[in-house]
Amino acid sequence: MTFLSSSDSSRSAAVPGIRLGCIADDFTGATDLANSLVRNGMRTVQTIGVPQHPLGFEVDAVVVALKSRTIPAADAVAQSLAALDYLRASGAEQIYFKYCSTFDSTREGNIGPVTEALMAAERCDFTIACPAFPENGRTVFKGHLFVGDVLLSDSGMRDHPLTPMRDSNLVRVLQAQTAARVGLIPYDVVARGAQAIRARMQSLEAEGVRIAVVDAICDDDLRKLGPALRQLRLVTAGSGVAIGLAPNFVLQHASEADVLPQRPGLRAIVSGSCSAATNAQVGEFVRRGGAAYALDPLKLAADEHEIEQALTWAAPRLATGPVLIYSTAEPAHVRHIQDRIGASRAGALVEQSLAQIARGLVGLGVTQLVVAGGETSGAVVQALGVTALRIGPQIDPGVPWTAAEGAVPLLLALKSGNFGTPDFFIKCFASMDDHERNPAA
Ligand code: ADP
Repeated sequence: MTFLSSSDSSRSAAVPGIRLGCIADDFTGATDLANSLVRNGMRTVQTIGVPQHPLGFEVDAVVVALKSRTIPAADAVAQSLAALDYLRASGAEQIYFKYCSTFDSTREGNIGPVTEALMAAERCDFTIACPAFPENGRTVFKGHLFVGDVLLSDSGMRDHPLTPMRDSNLVRVLQAQTAARVGLIPYDVVARGAQAIRARMQSLEAEGVRIAVVDAICDDDLRKLGPALRQLRLVTAGSGVAIGLAPNFVLQHASEADVLPQRPGLRAIVSGSCSAATNAQVGEFVRRGGAAYALDPLKLAADEHEIEQALTWAAPRLATGPVLIYSTAEPAHVRHIQDRIGASRAGALVEQSLAQIARGLVGLGVTQLVVAGGETSGAVVQALGVTALRIGPQIDPGVPWTAAEGAVPLLLALKSGNFGTPDFFIKCFASMDDHERNPAA
């Protein structure tokens, strides 16, 4: 069964209605937003691209993860509109276009063109733009974005390889990307609360402004902003705005938002991240006596049997606890490998090998799998045929357990390189034990 097209406004009985439909312009940004929605009481699923099928279970929010941040603007618009069709057909009451809290964009967009296209498709005359994420040091004041203590244009984003941000004035940045008139809801209005914000929205709209950048310097500002957004069909923001938006929805299952289906079975970790945090996590797992197999990229390049050997090693050990298969290495060793076989060949080879190993482990009965590394996670998710991730309890900031939907039902924790405390690989399964003992806790 394929999903309903936007031209069919009726909804299939098999597709439960959702409250909030989100379109995220990259994968980890999608997880960030989904995690925040769950923590604010919304049962949330992150889909990988635009789903071809209905979800088949009930959630409050869907976050469609695109990879549209730096692609040509016309492609970003097309993908975002396809996501919108899906979310509309799923019954979304409100649409949330999520971008990075550093407002990452190219000269052409894609924040402006996508916002404009979504407004047109939704027949929406007015929306906001607010990347503020105070918890992570992203604040907006007088329309200027700060990263920690410095202006965006003085931060590391100045030299980003794909989206260098050299102007901190968001009104100006956004205005350069769109024909729609851009204005500002300044801090003194935000500080006065939802009613004042609403009044300013109305007066800006009457003046012909169609997108208002909103100042916000602390979580309290975002909580004041939330109720003022209730009537907007479309909200555009970083993930910070979610903390004010989620309470607008009366949620009957808020206390169970992070409850996942149980998937008892064998446990494993595959790690292709060479970041400092992951090196420490592998070290800690090994130091505490965990069963660990170090993959040698040179052997992978030369010997077709390395993957089989890793799986043969894992098979008898899985019964007694989580096993770790890793290519994680210190920078000097990574450089040595890259010198020998080339950086991009080494990267692709290791990613694909770990993805095959993940598939092999699932074939051996693994139902709880941790993957370390952003690119590595992408390769594993693809190899396992995962189409969506139901977001569960947070293990460490930014890393939740998730239930993977797709070919094989399993629990996945996808950890990007520098996330997690040194005992992450131990802690994640301890938290799963707690969750299994007391799923609604
Ligand atoms: P992170 O989130 O830490 O950046 P990624 O998975 O995104 O981790 O990226 C790590 C990259 O390094 C991947 O392309 C992976 O295949 C590659 N890699 C992993 N181990 C090695 C190694 N020992 N030598 C060379 N490259 C490696």
